[in-house]
Amino acid sequence: MYFLSKPKLFESLNFDNRFISELPGDPETTNTRRQVMRSCYSPVQPKQVTRPELIAYSPELAEALGLSPEACKTADFAQVFSGNRLLPGMSPYAMCYGGHQFGNWAGQLGDGRAINLGEIVNEAGKRWALQLKGAGPTPYSRTADGLAVLRSSIREFLCSEAMYHLGVPTTRALSLILTGEQVVRDMFYDGHPKQEAGAVVCRVAPSFTRFGNFQLPASRGEVDVLRQLLDFTIRTDFPHLGKPSKETYLIWFAEVCRLTAEMVVHWMRVGFVHGVMNTDNMSILGLTIDYGPYGWLEDYDPDWTPNTTDANGRRYRFGNQPAIAHWNLYQLANAIHPLIEDVPALEKILGDYLKIYEQSQQSMMAQKLGLEGFDPETDEALIEELLEVLQIAETDMSLFYRNLAKVQTDIDDLNTIDNVQLLKPLMDAYYEPERLSDAVSARTADWLRTYIRRLKRDGQPDKLRRERMNAVNPLYVLRNYLAQLAIDKSEQGDHSMVKELLDLLKHPYDEQAGKESYAKKRPDWARHRAGCSMLSCSS
Ligand code: AMP
Ligand code: MG
Repeated sequence: MYFLSKPKLFESLNFDNRFISELPGDPETTNTRRQVMRSCYSPVQPKQVTRPELIAYSPELAEALGLSPEACKTADFAQVFSGNRLLPGMSPYAMCYGGHQFGNWAGQLGDGRAINLGEIVNEAGKRWALQLKGAGPTPYSRTADGLAVLRSSIREFLCSEAMYHLGVPTTRALSLILTGEQVVRDMFYDGHPKQEAGAVVCRVAPSFTRFGNFQLPASRGEVDVLRQLLDFTIRTDFPHLGKPSKETYLIWFAEVCRLTAEMVVHWMRVGFVHGVMNTDNMSILGLTIDYGPYGWLEDYDPDWTPNTTDANGRRYRFGNQPAIAHWNLYQLANAIHPLIEDVPALEKILGDYLKIYEQSQQSMMAQKLGLEGFDPETDEALIEELLEVLQIAETDMSLFYRNLAKVQTDIDDLNTIDNVQLLKPLMDAYYEPERLSDAVSARTADWLRTYIRRLKRDGQPDKLRRERMNAVNPLYVLRNYLAQLAIDKSEQGDHSMVKELLDLLKHPYDEQAGKESYAKKRPDWARHRAGCSMLSCSS
């Protein structure tokens, strides 16, 4: 249902829906589940909901889009961003894509519960696509309902904005709205379905195109559709690359590899585990996309994954993310190959990904340690040993780096100083500090001695080093149990913690008075609680 004219407070939203005006679409407009051939999207209407209620919105993003705080607080805002009413200029559609899920080709997937409202161009000329997640069924919903529940919507809303403020490339989230509907979910697919509150998040990104958008037409031999999509993507999202041609396609692919490498390096820096790095969840802009069973490392464990659906193979565990990104890029290379037909050139770019990743990872680690730069002579071994030391006792990753920044370098008797004394600044990063064995303490203290000597070689003042480290090592992250506490409260009708976390996570690197408890280690009760350490794809 459209507004007859645009409400005054929304007049600044200028729609320019290029994705549908320039790309081939599905002639059918119903949401009957079907295979959609030779199309990049299907027109579809969001589902009407009974009682849309705004829980929270992101003021910074609203401002970037040209929406005033007054506009965001109106009843019209909740109507529009729940999908109940459309603004003139909106033209809703679901995107058509395929993907590899857990390493297997899954064929057509598509936006099963995401509906794009359209693209706006803001005052500064920047393009943003607006997308509702959980706004009802589409031709791609397969056997599911196209809806989303409150718990997963809170997780997506908070984490998108938290990642943005951490400096991690990500899709954004404008709003979190309750629909007033009940949705049935079996959280662990174990025969215990229950009714949960339905919600819709409005996601925002320059583009929601995924690797899978290229894979699907390629898998069907629709080379002309593939070419149209790639040319469109270059024109719209990578205009600096110039006119589409075989050479441009290769440069584009190299750019996607670089953006992807940079995104994963950021994930490794902040301790983020995506949880479902299927190729349909990989953005061509190198944005973190599709916040499902993601999680944050608490104790440093490269084998950890929050996703119970992946508990056996642990394909998407923290430490495997760089390799999976490479594998996914390989699939993208296969998809665009018919347009390029130059295997060695594509392989060369894929090889370069590994080098780019390694270099950025080294310089990221040097920054985390407060070094002037990465010196391969010494720092490779220093970092390798650190990543071992972090695993020999249960160590909170975020707190460890914050505490490391507090270490003083002006110790004269570095060789003779007692281990216990030396390790003091680090102790509260340990989950069981009283149980550190002598052997663990000795190995950690040895590492610390090497580290301090390395710092002395740089000769930076401690204070400066500390500031630099604290600017890349976050103090506040969306710890899994914090998100769950906010969810528990919201499910009881109290949304204050969602708003509090949204505010807190705007400044993840700064100590905030009164908020100390949010920087603390995961409490013991959260160790094995559903939602805190175990999540599934059911959302
Ligand atoms: P994901 O693992 O969340 O990226 O989802 C994989 C595929 O399942 C995508 O095509 C989604 O659109 C679809 N999907 C996930 N949940 C739902 C749902 N509740 N209703 C319809 N489609 C869904
Ligand atoms: Mg997805």
